[in-house]
Amino acid sequence: MHSNLEGAHISGCERLAPVDRVESLAAAMVRRALQHPKGQADCLSLTIEAVSPASVQTTSLLDLTTIRAADYHQGRRMAAELLQRAGVSALAVASAVGYMAAGAAPGGTSMRGAMLVDAVDGTRLEPDPSRGVRASRMDLSESAETELRQRLALRGLDNPHVREALVLATKVMSAPGIVAELCWSDDPDYTAGYVASREYGYVRFAHLKPHGEERGGRAFFVCRQEVELEPLIAYLERSVLLITEVGEIGGPVDWEDV
Ligand code: AMP
Repeated sequence: MHSNLEGAHISGCERLAPVDRVESLAAAMVRRALQHPKGQADCLSLTIEAVSPASVQTTSLLDLTTIRAADYHQGRRMAAELLQRAGVSALAVASAVGYMAAGAAPGGTSMRGAMLVDAVDGTRLEPDPSRGVRASRMDLSESAETELRQRLALRGLDNPHVREALVLATKVMSAPGIVAELCWSDDPDYTAGYVASREYGYVRFAHLKPHGEERGGRAFFVCRQEVELEPLIAYLERSVLLITEVGEIGGPVDWEDV
């Protein structure tokens, strides 16, 4: 589901489910577009596509850790350090943070999808800087979703932002040639964000942007020696991934403990 208000992106959501759940999932997505904190959508598209069961790959969810951050300045400093530990150059981190803070789509608004950022020199690689690349066709199995919701609830984190971002980051990190991901939301009330990498899993920071900020975004950092862009984009957008196992959902830790 994608929704817009006066031409600007408001919200998006992806699900993968058996056909008997399609109707209730569609209703939930429409409700969400009409009750979004950024305003009621005036244009909403819902696409429903059949996928062949034989094309479904399965995997386990990334582990989640929360790092305490007093404010978004501290959060961004720690996120930058973590990205570098995961193999992204300081130049590429600065480039992605700069684009996201300024609004990475032309005109300084949020993109509908993610930037692809060269993990060495920080250049943007996505063919369309307004749409970006959309990770799609991934979800939790029903049993994994139940398990995840219970584990997140113990940490006070059982909300759609965290659930959907964990699923998205798991798909992104399963893609060959992706080094790490950086995300903060375009929802003005939601200041948290994360860095995902294979080594450290999904690392959440309570603050990666100031409250009230509508510019959000995602950067997928790419190792260009490892992958060609076209198959990478096809994997992120078209391959089908079902997450059947849930990882660890850790409690908050200080940066020094990472
Ligand atoms: P959200 O976490 O939904 O607030 O989204 C934050 C930003 O991530 C958006 O502004 C988009 O730039 C990007 N984004 C949202 N959904 C996707 C997706 N499915 N694939 C890639 N990027 C996305």
